Amino acid sequence: MLATRRRDTPGEIALRTALRALNLRYRIDVTLPGTRRRADVAFVGAKVAVFVDGCFWHGCPEHGTWPKANASWWRAKIEANRRRDNDTDLALRAAGWTVLRFWEHADATVAALGVARALKASG
Ligand SMILES: [Zn+2]
Repeated sequence: MLATRRRDTPGEIALRTALRALNLRYRIDVTLPGTRRRADVAFVGAKVAVFVDGCFWHGCPEHGTWPKANASWWRAKIEANRRRDNDTDLALRAAGWTVLRFWEHADATVAALGVARALKASG
């Protein structure tokens, strides 16, 4: 279900800008070694995977809106996205990855500092 996968969303770009400001060297939109999953931003050596979840597509509790037209179809789609996110997290953790997820509305600088902490913790 790649139809909802959008690259270079404003949230991803903001996070990447904040990561660069911290001199963190990342790769984007990579298939993670040892898994068949992709991450928006990855630190392959440290095995830290970062996702920026769109408020609409992933059902953000603050900004997720439930369209009134075709409501049940949208609800099923967004809930399927959330189940897939959860499944991805489990698969990556099972393969030894640290998984970080941020909402697209999150402050990018705060998110980047969280990534820096995870990288430090991963050694
Ligand atoms: Zn949101």
